[in-house]
Amino acid sequence: QAETLASDKLSPMMRQFAAAKAAHPDSLLFFRMGDFYELFYDDAVVASRELQLTLTARDRERQQPMCGVPYHAAEGYLQRLLRKGYRIAICEQMEDPKLAKGIVKREVTRVFTPGTALDPSAGAGENTFLASLAVANDRKSAGVALLDLSTGEFRTTEFRGADAVSAATEEVARNRPREVLLPAGLHLGGSQPELDGSEAGDDMLSSVRTRTPVEDWVFTADYALPLLQNHYRAHSLEGFGLAGRTSAAIAAGALLHYLRATKHEELEHLDVPRFYERSTCLELDAVSVRNLELIEPLFSGESQQTTLCYAVDACRTPMGKRMLRAVLLRPSIDVVEIAARHDAVGEAARSLASRERLRRALEQVLDLERLLARLALDSAGPREVVALARTLAALPPVQEALADLNQGRWGVLREHFDTLEDVCARIQATLVDEPPLKLGEGDAIQVGVDAELDELRGLSRSGREAIAAIEERERTRTGIGSLKVRFNSVFGYYLEITKSNLANVPSDYERKQTLVNAERFTTPELKEYERKILTAQERVGEIERRIFAALRREVLGSAARMREASRRLAEIDLLANFAHIAALRGWSRPEILADTTVFEFAEARHPVVELRLEESGAGRFIPNSGFLDGAQGPSLALITGPNMGGKSTYLRMAALLAILAQSGSFVPAVAMKLGLVDRIFTRIGASDNVARGRSTFMVEMTETAAILNSATPKSLVLLDEMGRGTATYDGLSLAWAAVEHLHDRVGARTLFATHYHELTLLEEKLARLKNLRVACRETPQGIVFLHQVESGAADRSYGIEVAKLAGLPRDVIARARAVLKMHEKAESASVAAAGQAAQIAAPPMQMTIFTPLSQRVVDRVRELDVDRMTPMEALQLLAELKREI
Ligand code: ADP
Repeated sequence: QAETLASDKLSPMMRQFAAAKAAHPDSLLFFRMGDFYELFYDDAVVASRELQLTLTARDRERQQPMCGVPYHAAEGYLQRLLRKGYRIAICEQMEDPKLAKGIVKREVTRVFTPGTALDPSAGAGENTFLASLAVANDRKSAGVALLDLSTGEFRTTEFRGADAVSAATEEVARNRPREVLLPAGLHLGGSQPELDGSEAGDDMLSSVRTRTPVEDWVFTADYALPLLQNHYRAHSLEGFGLAGRTSAAIAAGALLHYLRATKHEELEHLDVPRFYERSTCLELDAVSVRNLELIEPLFSGESQQTTLCYAVDACRTPMGKRMLRAVLLRPSIDVVEIAARHDAVGEAARSLASRERLRRALEQVLDLERLLARLALDSAGPREVVALARTLAALPPVQEALADLNQGRWGVLREHFDTLEDVCARIQATLVDEPPLKLGEGDAIQVGVDAELDELRGLSRSGREAIAAIEERERTRTGIGSLKVRFNSVFGYYLEITKSNLANVPSDYERKQTLVNAERFTTPELKEYERKILTAQERVGEIERRIFAALRREVLGSAARMREASRRLAEIDLLANFAHIAALRGWSRPEILADTTVFEFAEARHPVVELRLEESGAGRFIPNSGFLDGAQGPSLALITGPNMGGKSTYLRMAALLAILAQSGSFVPAVAMKLGLVDRIFTRIGASDNVARGRSTFMVEMTETAAILNSATPKSLVLLDEMGRGTATYDGLSLAWAAVEHLHDRVGARTLFATHYHELTLLEEKLARLKNLRVACRETPQGIVFLHQVESGAADRSYGIEVAKLAGLPRDVIARARAVLKMHEKAESASVAAAGQAAQIAAPPMQMTIFTPLSQRVVDRVRELDVDRMTPMEALQLLAELKREI
């Protein structure tokens, strides 16, 4: 392509194209030609493939591929390309082709990228973030900035220390941005390439479809910091809480740079970049957010209904919905804040009347943030502004509804609530209640706003009336009953007379146009009215646009006040929502304690599974209780039992209870006591990394390593079937060692679901480990799951029984039973041969059917004098033997 474009044989227009393309090499260039946007060369090939457009050739000889989309339908095509992650530059005609001398002037006026374009299909509760990642030269500090152009939300944070880059990368991934800006020279993944050659940091960002490299000089303090300060007309970074946080400020500055580079100049609605600290909230890594299905279902394409967010979202406003998501991703670790939220939720939960009044008032509130953003980005028409006024008009009732609620937080939200009556009144006084979609006809503005406008509107109306009168008069004068006065944009006003009546046309008519069946005429009188009407209309359009622009500026002048009102509305809605859910489902207030590491819940339910069972009528959720304590008492619960017994559900339930509680919500339990959790770690299920060529086992071990290295006594750790991805004994030993490490060194509250029954023996060795099992019953028809979690270890795996339920052929089941029996017999025979050793042997093990007992172990057991061993020695020996196998 470069070669073709460089050729000097290009037509002047194609030279224009080549120049625009050279300035935007990474974008598909939409080149305006009349009523079409045309794409050329590689762009045309890509667009025709992605949009299923027909590819043609502009110049037969030279075979330049091209394709086009109609100008008026471009929006839909743009959105499709953006969703696929493309960037698009729009090259517009800058002058009227009719008036242009020579070739029409063209310029790139807009660049759309996945992170900066407004996406009309984005859900109300969804944020569409553009992220940026800045890394200090020594890699000891890294900043992240996140901006949602559609709402104006702008946040930034910073990480320090040896793993700053990976922490920052993780933070970007967690927020699932549409696009991320990276310094072009940045090398992610650190110094240690992994075994399979992929790089960890890179892997983490691979969930972000559009990664945009930006020149390195943009990410420098010399450039980015003044840019940031100038944009907000601030004298220092202190006002943003960014003093000394250079990486965070650079990331924010680079974002602003990018917005300018992509021709986003109207940015009044942007919030100031607010610094937030990751360590002021319960940390949830991207893996846990995914595994616990907080926001999105684990497998894309699955219904949203499997997510926590879905189960607890009855918010009335889009701001509330977005805040709910944000809160679930960043639960608090501030007991005072959490208690204030619980107080407020409790009060509203008790009073149905005031809660409903509040929720009804909130229902009238539209997406204030997005309306404001559209206005700022100049994509709002009169209807959006009227919608904005309606939303503002709904604020006073919200404030009044808060009067019924007395708890501290409600009071704070009610007081100094700027309900923006002045802005609302200003809009209502300027625009009519039901304005047209577009400006220009003069009927969007209220009567009385502008005297000249009113007069011109009168003129054009009386002109139209006069023309209607001419029609009547001329019919009588000529005796032609079918005579009509008509208008079109090319010929203006004319008299139309059918061919059969031409004989009666008076001599003062001037012929304008001949059609098949009719002739069109005009008269000096008609021309005069036409001139009056058209000039009046033109002027009307001008005045209307001027008034609208002034209104827009004035409303945007209150952007900061509206953002503040949005924040309040979001919190009011969030708390009202938690109260509603709590009252509706009988949830109770958890007790949150700052200085303990207890985690106790009674008769708790999994909020999502319970709801699904209820909605589908499939049954009732069996409540379960639990008790852990990181400091005293049991810190680690080992859960065994058959597949499908409810182990994973129990683990996930525990995590969701903690997340809900620290988010300020009540919890689905009869009672709950929770010492603040600082982080939740999960190693559950498969990860999508598997699809990217990293083995399941490698992923599992990487995640486990992160847990063992970083969990604290205040953390909550969930491990589900750890060690599954390798040979049985490897897996067992790794799981064994991990349990010991968590128990002895970390002390974190841990739930460990496993199939390795051998591990249950650790209960005797590890003082703070306790065994739990999911209960089941064997019936002649097969195994029945009771979903009840109780003390004790499961006696065996029930693998074959569960397989039978799954519909394995009957003869395969029968054969499996026979094989199992054979192996059990062989094993007990060899054990029996070793004397009384059976006393300390593990219960029959399903896994042994795959690996014959090692001869060395058998030999050692043979030499034992079991009668002179204590149970403890026996256990230790057993552990040693296991290591040998
Ligand atoms: P495991 O991890 O032991 O294989 P799961 O936790 O995946 O089992 O649970 C299997 C199924 O049992 C789930 O799909 C869920 O619907 C159901 N289930 C789990 N726990 C309960 C419970 N307490 N009450 C009712 N149904 C449950």
